[in-house]
Amino acid sequence: MNSEVKIAYFSMEIGISNDIPTYSGGLGVLAGDTIKSSADLKIPLVAVTLISKKGYFRQDIDGDGRQVEYPINWDPSRFMVRVSKKVKVQIEGRNVYIQAWCYQVRSVTGGVVDVLYLDTDVEENIKEDREITAFLYGGDVNYRLKQEIVLGIGGVRMLHALGFHIRKYHMNEGHASLLVLELLLTYKKDVESVWDERWVWDTDTVKDLCVFTTHTPVEAGHDRFSYDLVKNVLGEIVPLELLKKLGGEHYLNMTLLALNLSKYVNGVAKKHGEVSKTLFPGYEINAITNGVHSFTWTCESFKQLYDQYIPGWANEPELLVRAEIIPDAELWEAHLRAKNDLFDYIKKIAGIEMDPDVLTIGFARRFTSYKRADLIFSNLEKFLKISEKGNFQIVFAGKAHPKDTPGKDIIKKIIDLAKVINDKIKVVFLKDYNMEMALKLVSGVDVWLNTPLRPREASGTSGMKASHNGVINFSILDGWWIEGHIEGITGWSIGPKPLESTLVHADDMTDAADLYGKLGNTIIPMYYHDRNQWIKIMKNSIGKIAYYFNSHRMMRRYVTEAYIR
Ligand SMILES: *Cc1c(COP(=O)(O)O)cnc(C)c1O
Repeated sequence: MNSEVKIAYFSMEIGISNDIPTYSGGLGVLAGDTIKSSADLKIPLVAVTLISKKGYFRQDIDGDGRQVEYPINWDPSRFMVRVSKKVKVQIEGRNVYIQAWCYQVRSVTGGVVDVLYLDTDVEENIKEDREITAFLYGGDVNYRLKQEIVLGIGGVRMLHALGFHIRKYHMNEGHASLLVLELLLTYKKDVESVWDERWVWDTDTVKDLCVFTTHTPVEAGHDRFSYDLVKNVLGEIVPLELLKKLGGEHYLNMTLLALNLSKYVNGVAKKHGEVSKTLFPGYEINAITNGVHSFTWTCESFKQLYDQYIPGWANEPELLVRAEIIPDAELWEAHLRAKNDLFDYIKKIAGIEMDPDVLTIGFARRFTSYKRADLIFSNLEKFLKISEKGNFQIVFAGKAHPKDTPGKDIIKKIIDLAKVINDKIKVVFLKDYNMEMALKLVSGVDVWLNTPLRPREASGTSGMKASHNGVINFSILDGWWIEGHIEGITGWSIGPKPLESTLVHADDMTDAADLYGKLGNTIIPMYYHDRNQWIKIMKNSIGKIAYYFNSHRMMRRYVTEAYIR
């Protein structure tokens, strides 16, 4: 099984199914989609992540509209098998033992990808160390560094212990960068036989083995650790002088470490590639725009429609370019089925009745300030006035990181506002956003809204999911939407065109004014009075967006541009 030479794909989070809660948002779901497309396309790949036995968290909302977090206790043995091999890493001078769980993704094409979930909850470890793989993005910076040691260093050791032959190590974001240190140790040259210390560390060989995908377009978003902490927790597994040369003089920057030891580096959309180059001048940074797994992110009624009119679409999503051949009435019918399915679901989980005849806007993603979930409420008076042009309703969902107070405040703000304006415009917030709810939302609303602060949305992927279901995007021109958007043809933009790659001053009012204008003057009138034009844009979402923004296309690009070089 392990004799084939493989790509090792490392990601701190992986969202592969709703039952395995080891993801927090887009990064993890992208990793899951990467794995599924690799299985479909029979790309030889093995994935490595952490088991996160208590999940990210389960979100509840208290009577005051505040987010409350609970651990998720899930049982890996229901979905995967424990691998008997153990490896160890040194943390704070102690041996920490690591086991793995193996989950197999099997495609109908016959392709199989193993996903290794690393677990420190083994009896040899002291209590504290058994908790290292408990909470995704939990704890403090100390805890984070320990997790990254387990993922990066422990992950490489586990692959080797299991006999995998690895052609490339692909780091999905900087969390796994410490793997380069393990590779430096593996390919270290025999000190006796060389006369110059420089030749001991074979950085060229390691570089040839590594691929790095960055996902963060701002300096503050990159993981970094003080060298005092590094010395304490990791120890000097390579000389500090070397580490500083590779990872930064004043603190260990995980992005820099990966950049310096990867032959191929990319951002996740064209714009993000540009922004990354200005963040890290002097590095060659390419761009491979993200995609989503078409079969996973298409709802039942659209799957049936595609099976009938575009057979073979699931493993060849390019075929969706032929969306035009679907009869309008059947497309609308499929959409209504998805909408009713969503509204039944909302009734069931939240007890709220929604009207399927009303234009419905969806907004769901991680709640963090730059995503500006509350932008649409910037000017309440103007917002309420729009409903005079035609009725609309909004569904929100999303979790804020437990330590992200501003993100939690936005949730509360929306829940409080909903109570005040519900007689005019129905606004609902669904708690505990997850992959199952995501599919219902991206297929069951009419318009998918995204209002990030430019240029902070490296790519974004939920809008690509919406397009697979004929749901129309209405978004700030940032990330992938810069590439997918053709005004009035594939959807609608919000705010000015992106010109600058640096972080611009937050001009919420300009963006909000444009949002209100288009919603009131274009979107609402078209929805209620020009259904034919509306359906045309729905088809373009499929035929001009989904056909391209899928993870099959993305993985073919990783293979030809990153993996076989
Ligand atoms: C797709 C997805 C995301 C990513 O949403 P963005 O709008 O791209 O940030 C986050 N969470 C879940 C559960 C998803 O399925």
